[in-house]
Amino acid sequence: MMEEKLIQVRNGHPRRSQKRRGRRFPWGDIVAALLVVAICAYVFLSLGEKAPAKEAAVTGTPALATAQVRSEEQTGLSTEKIQPAANDTDWNLVLVNYENAIPEHYQANLVKLSGGEEVDERIYDPLMEMLEAAKEGNWDQLPMVVSGYRTQAKQQKLFDDKVAKYQNEGHSKSEAEEMAKQWVAVPGYSEHQIGLAVDINGATYDLYFWLQENSYKYGFIFRYPGNKTELTGVAEEVWHYRYVGVEAATEMYEKGLCLEEYLAERQGTE
Ligand SMILES: [Zn+2]
Repeated sequence: MMEEKLIQVRNGHPRRSQKRRGRRFPWGDIVAALLVVAICAYVFLSLGEKAPAKEAAVTGTPALATAQVRSEEQTGLSTEKIQPAANDTDWNLVLVNYENAIPEHYQANLVKLSGGEEVDERIYDPLMEMLEAAKEGNWDQLPMVVSGYRTQAKQQKLFDDKVAKYQNEGHSKSEAEEMAKQWVAVPGYSEHQIGLAVDINGATYDLYFWLQENSYKYGFIFRYPGNKTELTGVAEEVWHYRYVGVEAATEMYEKGLCLEEYLAERQGTE
């Protein structure tokens, strides 16, 4: 980052000296030189101030964490941080469903949302933009992310709780497990474990209609529509949204495809 600034300053320098050519004493050059020194000092100082911002990002304040990500992008330091997906340009299209486990050694880089849930840092900005826009379908209230990233342990607990609930209702263990799978993914097979999915809660059910019509503009898809249950393996979940990027989301919205269909079609054309 510092080098970039210095180059900018040097580029500015010749113009100044040209203007003042012909004068007896190069006051202009001296002023310019002083400017360079001042700007260098400023750059050094602002680099020094970065350190606390970094610490704050670790504790998870969303704004600061995002700022940190941005500044890393600018300095080009963050390029190799991720990604376990086979093709890293397709991280947003990783398929996780009842027959596709989360990729081995998958590690999500998380950022905390104001409500306490976490998501992959790459979907933070589009998610915030979508939730902000969704206020118009939610009595002007910001919708809440009630479930974001889940660890294996968290997913296991959700699944076990669901099985226990059905067992308490008198079902056998295997029955209870089959029923639970309709609602909670088997641990290791949940999109929530890759940090790219969120469960959204609103003040009114209208929010879900708004999301179904508009989420694609922000790169999110209505992941489990009722008419795709056979393909997704999941009963309709109006609250569950998955990030796939604007391009894929738009195509899926326009053609009425679920992620499984979209990926199959895409493979066919490659
Ligand atoms: Zn969900």
